[in-house]
Amino acid sequence: MTAAASSASGEPVDAIVVGAGLAGLCAARHLQRAGRSVTVIEASDGVGGRVRSDMVDGFTLDRGFQVLLTAYPEATRQLDLGALELRAFDPGAAVRVGSRFHVVGDPLRQPATLWSTSVAPIGSPIDKLRLLALRRRVRRTEPAQLLRGTDEATIDHLRSAGFSPRMIDRFFRPLFGGIQLDPSLSGSARMFDVIFRMLSDGDSAVPAAGMGAIPAQIAAGLAPGTVRFGTRAVAVESSAEGRSVRLASGDVITGRSVVVATEGTAAASLLGLPAVGSKRVACVYFDAPSAPVSHRYVVLDGTRSGPVLNVAIMSNVAPSYAPAGRHLVAAAITDPADDLDLEVAARTQLRSWWGGQVDGWRHLRTYRIEHGQPDQTPPFHPRQRVALGDGLFVCGDHRDTASIQGALFSGRRCAEAVAVATAS
Ligand SMILES: Cc1cc2nc3c(=O)[nH]c(=O)nc-3n(C[C@H](O)[C@H](O)[C@H](O)COP(=O)(O)OP(=O)(O)OC[C@H]3O[C@@H](n4cnc5c(N)ncnc54)[C@H](O)[C@@H]3O)c2cc1C
Repeated sequence: MTAAASSASGEPVDAIVVGAGLAGLCAARHLQRAGRSVTVIEASDGVGGRVRSDMVDGFTLDRGFQVLLTAYPEATRQLDLGALELRAFDPGAAVRVGSRFHVVGDPLRQPATLWSTSVAPIGSPIDKLRLLALRRRVRRTEPAQLLRGTDEATIDHLRSAGFSPRMIDRFFRPLFGGIQLDPSLSGSARMFDVIFRMLSDGDSAVPAAGMGAIPAQIAAGLAPGTVRFGTRAVAVESSAEGRSVRLASGDVITGRSVVVATEGTAAASLLGLPAVGSKRVACVYFDAPSAPVSHRYVVLDGTRSGPVLNVAIMSNVAPSYAPAGRHLVAAAITDPADDLDLEVAARTQLRSWWGGQVDGWRHLRTYRIEHGQPDQTPPFHPRQRVALGDGLFVCGDHRDTASIQGALFSGRRCAEAVAVATAS
């Protein structure tokens, strides 16, 4: 059966967007603002894709620990950051080495952390001076410039900048391994530089109502009824008669253009593009009667004492994430083994950090995310083609950087290309 995705006038819509993650929502909003008619089809039951939050027993659980870096240029451009009521982490991290936690702060933003940072056993004094030099270099260079030039693996980049193995293992590996879901540090050095700059320029923050508030804000800017949930695309075609999307239900919908805004693996299969590898990640959430630490730093495991790479006491950062008198602990695990009981493994590891109190924590939920981020190994080229010809378009973090910034940017620049193509 063929069903045209119709605009109010009954004409086929200008664009069918497949996927209501950040990229698809941005593309749809941008196109509607440019006067185009748009239908978004989304396989799941809500907007946000990888950026969704669930309410469980009064706790706000993001589907995987993640943060918005407020320095992302597209966040400033496309989001109403004030309305998100952002709650920021302290800049830096508390790194666990041996049986102690050491605050490695940003002394330029928090002078009180100068001493703890200087004495933290994560590297030599020269390593820490190199860290300042790295910060200065990336802040002096435009992000677009950081994404150009020769690329190499992050670990080689750090070694050639003179960082010691101790500094790499105890600081960069848990911090960037967690952010880029890449504890091997084999990902693009260009991306490392950009993320390091974003961390130095702004805050790592979450909206008071959970990360899902970000896509919800964008979706609120769409015309009512734009998004059709529970609607999965199984094929995308372009012919002389027009563009069509075959749905899992067997229906076919047609439009003047089709924007595939799914994650990279699905986009590759729908459009016949080169395969995109995926990085897996998991997050185990616990309800704790009291917080194991009182600060707002992300806690890093500097010595790989188990599968948990970093821990965030979400309720210290955003009290609204937990009911009054309770605390929310998020334990993030990269590349989790299929047969590992993540709750048991996380509890065992965190008991070795914080003792018997951990046995009193109630397991809330574990998320395993098969496609956390697309692989972006060097040489990494952002700004990949979004206009594929014949009315077909593609966007998503796999076309730009593997991040919220990349998804927002990709959605916008794809919409600009569609708007040009559907101008007449
Ligand atoms: C645990 C985790 C932590 C992260 N941490 C951070 C972080 O701290 N900071 C940061 O910047 N980024 C982080 N990221 C990355 C960031 O979330 C993503 O880069 C971004 O959300 C990707 O958005 P997208 O719109 O490109 O894709 P997606 O969010 O994957 O959206 C794709 C949408 O398409 C839908 N879809 C798929 N196939 C079909 C189909 N056949 N038909 C219809 N619909 C379909 C999906 O259901 C989904 O809604 C993290 C990701 C994860 C998973």
